[in-house]
Amino acid sequence: MSLIYPNTKQDEKKSTDAEFMKFAKIEMVKAPQTVLLLGSGGRECAMAAAIAESKLLRKLYIAPGNAGTAAYGTNVPDLNPAKHEAVSQFISTHGVTLLVCGPEAPLVDGLVDYLQEDARHPDLLIVGPDKAGAHLEGSKEYSKEFMRRHGIPTASYETFGPQDMEEAEEFLDQLSAPFVLKADGLAAGKGVLICQDREEAEQGLGQLFSGMFGSRGQRIVIEEFLEGIECSVFVATDGTDYCVLPVAKDYKRVGDGDTGPNTGGMGAVSPVPFADETFMQRVEERIIRPTLEGLQEEGIQYVGFLFIGLMNVAGDPYVIEYNCRLG
Ligand code: AMP
Repeated sequence: MSLIYPNTKQDEKKSTDAEFMKFAKIEMVKAPQTVLLLGSGGRECAMAAAIAESKLLRKLYIAPGNAGTAAYGTNVPDLNPAKHEAVSQFISTHGVTLLVCGPEAPLVDGLVDYLQEDARHPDLLIVGPDKAGAHLEGSKEYSKEFMRRHGIPTASYETFGPQDMEEAEEFLDQLSAPFVLKADGLAAGKGVLICQDREEAEQGLGQLFSGMFGSRGQRIVIEEFLEGIECSVFVATDGTDYCVLPVAKDYKRVGDGDTGPNTGGMGAVSPVPFADETFMQRVEERIIRPTLEGLQEEGIQYVGFLFIGLMNVAGDPYVIEYNCRLG
């Protein structure tokens, strides 16, 4: 697909390159699309159902897809989203104009960067951040540092490597129970230990440093426990403008009555009663805007979905984590 150029006098005021590119992209987005949706979960089934409703949809492929997504498009079971070259070839051979990446792993692995550098499809539209943007989810240490740099409210914290056991224990001395220990890298929502007392925290430290979550667990974040109610805010953005999607609240602990270890999620509800106008205004002012401005300042053009896991602490929102996709 080629760019559609503005051709009226009135369009001459769209003089800067950035404005022009934005205008051209909007025109491209308004054209019929052949979509490749990557992923195979319930999330991708919901996304496929929504994409299939668009009047602009020419054809929808889902790779690898699942039994549910087959109702909304054509599954491509042999295409593995982790194989960048295979995805790129599929895009070329099937005339894909819009790629939507459901899961985080291909984003964190740099699929978007690979496709952007590929001369075969210069006009491909992509929903999903590049590797630098996805690092907000890929590394807890990075995301905490990002929040610290940009004054975004989050639990106070420090990070430690296996050689810093003594320093980690000293930091625990400064906190009061419960203690929150996090493996630095991707862990599918299961890389967090909430330790009720000091003994449990010391055990947790040992487990994390010894590679309980694979080699990614080698660096850990210890943070202050935030007392409150959680919710999930979803933002769709082109890096500058954004739209806040309906707020949800998920339940992560495995046992009845919200007990037991954390999982990737046991269920969710939406809307969230406490996420009223006042709360959401605070979320936009203190979190969404500073996050997008921070990304811009750091030269990261974040295009896609940004999930923000929040704790409502007596009416004030604190970021627990970012995800670079829909939750
Ligand atoms: P995360 O993977 O960072 O989203 O953490 C998983 C879950 O652990 C969160 O959804 C919270 O339930 C809990 N959690 C993480 N960090 C904290 C914190 N600082 N205070 C209280 N609970 C937390």
